[in-house]
Amino acid sequence: MRKPFIAGNWKMHKTIAEAVHFSQTLCKEAQQFTRDRDILIAPPFTALSSVAKIIAGTGIHLAAQNLHESPQGAFTGEVSGAMVAEAGCDYVLVGHSERRHIYGETDDLVSRKVKAAWESGLKVIFCIGETLEEREKGKTFQVVEKQMKEGLKAFKEDDIERLVIAYEPVWAIGTGKTATPEQAEEVHVLIRDLQKKLYGSVAADALIILYGGSVKPDNMAELMAKENVDGALIGGASLDVESFLRMVMFDKPE
Ligand code: PEP
Repeated sequence: MRKPFIAGNWKMHKTIAEAVHFSQTLCKEAQQFTRDRDILIAPPFTALSSVAKIIAGTGIHLAAQNLHESPQGAFTGEVSGAMVAEAGCDYVLVGHSERRHIYGETDDLVSRKVKAAWESGLKVIFCIGETLEEREKGKTFQVVEKQMKEGLKAFKEDDIERLVIAYEPVWAIGTGKTATPEQAEEVHVLIRDLQKKLYGSVAADALIILYGGSVKPDNMAELMAKENVDGALIGGASLDVESFLRMVMFDKPE
């Protein structure tokens, strides 16, 4: 049985004070839900340690939004897996479309980041998804398959406990255009089937697959009603604590 997984990616938003205030409210209102759902926030690097202190012991997860693929070195401006783990993170986002498309991260780099995250003891939210052009050319499945095969080169069956996949069609991120529940389900089924083909049915059945792309309180429940949509990775609508809480508390379909 896969637990619903609700994750907020704050991107480059919130000062430390704002992050602290959000986290205090989140803990107060959402801690009771951590028994039957996974709740995660991904603040900017600067706020990680402060947020970690507030959520400690609540069961709420903390993610960094990025890491460098090396454990240390002369990489001005970069942050390693060990550093974010020390700051209190148990997860890290890897392969977010903004990293792939704005900063040119390739599947090869993404795979090295996945490996570095696991070597630092972090779990990975591995993001994949096609552009509008790729979807219109009918290449969605091909793109997702390539991103999975190349980005998860380091994956072994035992790693299933440390992997969450987020399917985030690029055309739906921050655009207000959400994939329909049917479109999301279709790709999630493909991801699970591929996982089964590559790593067997135990790794496929346990795999948590999030949908991301303009998820908001109003469309959360219909997306979550799909069998293979196990949760959501939410950007814009996760910034307001009331809005995020509405999604954390969505009504689970029976
Ligand atoms: C994201 O940043 O992962 C995302 C899905 O953003 P939004 O919800 O704003 O589309």
